[in-house]
Amino acid sequence: MTDAYTRFIRSTPGGLLAKQLGLPRPSRLLRREDRPEPVLGPVVVLGASAGADRIAHLLLDQGADVRRRFDELRSVGSVVLVADELEAPADLGSLVLPLAGAMRTLAPGARVVTISRPASTEEASRAAARGGVEGFLRSLAHEMRGGATANGILVRDGVELDAPAVLGALRFFLSSRSAFVTGQFLTVSSTDGSASENATLPLAGRTALVTGAARGIGAAIARTLAADGAQLVVLDVPGAGTELSRLANELRAVPIQLDVTSAGAGERLVAFLRERGLSLDAVVLNAGITRDKLLANMTADRWDPVLAVNITSQIALTDALLEAGDVLGEQVRVVSLASTSGIAGNRGQTNYAASKAGVMAFVDALAARLAPLGGTANAVAPGFIETEMTAKIPALTREVARRANSLQQGGLPVDVAEAISFLASTEAGGIRGETLRVCGQNMVGR
Ligand code: NAD
Repeated sequence: MTDAYTRFIRSTPGGLLAKQLGLPRPSRLLRREDRPEPVLGPVVVLGASAGADRIAHLLLDQGADVRRRFDELRSVGSVVLVADELEAPADLGSLVLPLAGAMRTLAPGARVVTISRPASTEEASRAAARGGVEGFLRSLAHEMRGGATANGILVRDGVELDAPAVLGALRFFLSSRSAFVTGQFLTVSSTDGSASENATLPLAGRTALVTGAARGIGAAIARTLAADGAQLVVLDVPGAGTELSRLANELRAVPIQLDVTSAGAGERLVAFLRERGLSLDAVVLNAGITRDKLLANMTADRWDPVLAVNITSQIALTDALLEAGDVLGEQVRVVSLASTSGIAGNRGQTNYAASKAGVMAFVDALAARLAPLGGTANAVAPGFIETEMTAKIPALTREVARRANSLQQGGLPVDVAEAISFLASTEAGGIRGETLRVCGQNMVGR
């Protein structure tokens, strides 16, 4: 799904005109069907610590073409900067400057990933150095060209770099699955989680529920999770029953028609799962609506449904699933849909932003509740994604929103789905209460 402006710019006259006028020239993003390999190589691992050696070996074990220097490489697929032992801001230069000379050798769609420690430490110089990695990475992401991305992994002190979620996050960021994720950090806070037994079908043997699955991002999530091996339960309102049945047939999924805001929806879902002997390993809370208006024109019939669908239903559903005690698997992963509007706010979206900021706080609290059960909860915050929801935005506002990110284009539903598939995997067990933005480094918020 390419927008009309991008199609024009990619034509010869359009490209020339854009160059002359300095207009945005979005690059074609490479996705799973273009670059299916698990790691975009060759990968250059920079850093002199024992952790850098460990990461290089882990990537070698994955079958990646790993180097420790740029040498004469003409085209570099990925660069990993391992900065786990920084003590002072002055340590940063020797780590990042080798990349400066190699920037022009980065291949289209290349990946840069930093692995460092969170800045929250009492030693001031160390904290400053660690904080520096975040500023460096976010700026670098703005400088990447040709659909290339830059992201970071923050590994809590005391967690070794070979924790399952570090490797999982690294592979996600180094693959084409993170095409629309750039300028972002994921924190790994524990060694929980385990590598999937099936490298090509990481969700094999797992059952996932997707709410709001009949269309848009929800349908893409269901398709991606199914392609990764999961058995699906797909849920949507009765009014979307035809599309839901079609999707269920396509994916051999179990459909359930349910309005998530209806009284007793959670209990009905539990009864439905019990009747079929199903237990959920992943719960994707995607159903969501907008009813935009300035606060000056806001009424209860616009405010209440947005809060009810986007956040209250999520609390009720997860409460019912947890209280049932027999419909969740051991390493359950809850992934909820937030939004960049919930992070930065957005004119005309006080109701929507309240609900989505609520989602981010909710997953943090839920993660603490799930931790003793070996489970996690996280959120994904999409920026501008090309769906029926965003097609309703007035044309000029839509065009501005679509370009206001480092990749100068809207993302596709599959980009959100890829991030969710990673967070739904057993590997991601060490990531909890996080919100990962899938927004092309949208210029709003952090
Ligand atoms: P969409 O409107 O295309 O699809 C939403 C789906 O949710 C529909 O199938 C709808 O029937 C279902 N749904 C709505 N209310 C429901 C209810 N009460 N019970 C059960 N199902 C219900 O929207 P989308 O663009 O695919 O968005 C999916 C999610 O992603 C939403 O939570 C949305 O807020 C979020 N999001 C989207 C964007 C974007 O750019 N499209 C950006 C940020 C966040």
